[in-house]
Amino acid sequence: MSSNPQNKNLRFIIIGGGMAGILSAVKLKEAGYTNFTLYEKASSLGGTWRENQYPGVACDVPSHFYCYSFAPNPDWSYNCSPGAEIYEYLQSVADQFDVYPHVKFDTEIASMVFRNSRWHLKTNQGHLDEADFVIGATGVLHRPSYPDIPGIDSFEGTMFHTSRWNHSVPLEDKRIGIIGTGSTSIQIVGALSGKVKKLEQFQRTPQWIMPRPNPAYTEQEKLNFRENPALLDAIRAENVAISEGGFSSAVVGENPEALAMIAQLTLENLEQNVTDPVLREKLRPDYQAACKRLIMSHNYYDAIQHRNTELVTESITGIEPEGIRTADGKLHKLDVLVISTGFQVDQFLRPIEVTGNNGVTLEEAWKARPSAYLSVAIPEFPNLILLNGPNGPVGNFSLIDVADIQFSYFMKLVDHIQQSDFTQFVAKQDALDRTETDRVEATKKTVWVSGCDSWYLDDRGVPAAWPWSMKHFRNTMAEPDMSDYELAS
Ligand code: NAP
Repeated sequence: MSSNPQNKNLRFIIIGGGMAGILSAVKLKEAGYTNFTLYEKASSLGGTWRENQYPGVACDVPSHFYCYSFAPNPDWSYNCSPGAEIYEYLQSVADQFDVYPHVKFDTEIASMVFRNSRWHLKTNQGHLDEADFVIGATGVLHRPSYPDIPGIDSFEGTMFHTSRWNHSVPLEDKRIGIIGTGSTSIQIVGALSGKVKKLEQFQRTPQWIMPRPNPAYTEQEKLNFRENPALLDAIRAENVAISEGGFSSAVVGENPEALAMIAQLTLENLEQNVTDPVLREKLRPDYQAACKRLIMSHNYYDAIQHRNTELVTESITGIEPEGIRTADGKLHKLDVLVISTGFQVDQFLRPIEVTGNNGVTLEEAWKARPSAYLSVAIPEFPNLILLNGPNGPVGNFSLIDVADIQFSYFMKLVDHIQQSDFTQFVAKQDALDRTETDRVEATKKTVWVSGCDSWYLDDRGVPAAWPWSMKHFRNTMAEPDMSDYELAS
């Protein structure tokens, strides 16, 4: 990064202290910018890994890949390590890079207005702050989505969303119901099956499951990593190559062989590992593998076949004080009801009230649906950058790498401001319109439109995601095309 922070005393505000917010703080410091504050609404850093503490939570992206390139960790316990370890890792990186003095905890941003070339922010407590640039690092899968099932509020047992797990309730002696079959629910079933009185998973749509063995690293391996960090670089490079050459290119229609391999492996997994033919048919999807977010698991099929665990495929007709009623008239009596129905994926910065140029609000700009030029910049909202914003690579690459690349792109925009008489950059509307037209066209060749419903699809059924390869993403984000921006002072 070639920034010259001595030139102008620029001030930055980062909203959100998850993976992308911590990354931003570390990178700002690395570029020599120390005049910044990170606002975090909760009492600790860690974002999604703080919020998701359900049994079995882990990242199904290998740990030596799902970590910062600038902070490799020789001590990961597993190939895909538990969520608690990732949570701890993120906090230790923040500590190592001295991010904490910049953090204001328990402080939620309520509103932000662009006025006189600066962002003016107000917290929920009424505290005011201002900055030249705002980095929106508020995450994608953040606001829980609750199902609209009749009677849901009448349930008299304990009910919570997976990202609001109530750890005060002992589960061993309980009848537990879980609604949903996404990546979250699959991990929970893997962890709880056989450890509770009865577990019922309510499935609306079956999932293809990719077998993913999860070996632990031995103490000797960790020692080797510590003594020879080049080994970690090699593992990372190998993962990048596997991911970019395989899955990431397969889902966007650029590698039919890899897509066929995914289909074959998931089919074999089902055929070979589910013995009861009736259950096997219930678990068999009728759409193409990887159309929905592909699930990786080493234990789900074993877990769902446990004698105290049941897959319920009758549709839910209502929730009653005692449990869930299904279409066959059966009442499934439950003590605990786990809502594993995912997240509202179109919120991003919201509910912050954001007002840009000419009094335009984010609600107005995103009235149809959220959009951003190259997923990072919104016309009429100068000097605001979104990390993991709308229509980005949410389902194809490691989001850590995505945030890293987006942040470097942002720093290049800041360089332009540093090296000119301008104080503001803002994406042009026609640049967004043009790139969005190309993006929508390119989604037509992705597996996400091959005939399933998923959270990748927007209200039109168009994947709200980056529909090209990682290489294309790296190339596009390597250098801002300044003709797509207006600069102003
Ligand atoms: P999700 O993938 O959105 O799954 C939601 C589930 O709830 C689906 O099975 C859905 O069924 C079901 N559902 C929704 N509304 C329902 C209703 N009214 N009645 C019955 N069922 C209903 O949510 P998630 O499992 O929390 O995962 C979200 C994302 O988080 C994942 O796709 C992934 O990107 C991320 N994640 C990652 C990891 C990791 O290891 N990296 C782990 C967990 C989560 P339909 O399929 O029929 O819609």
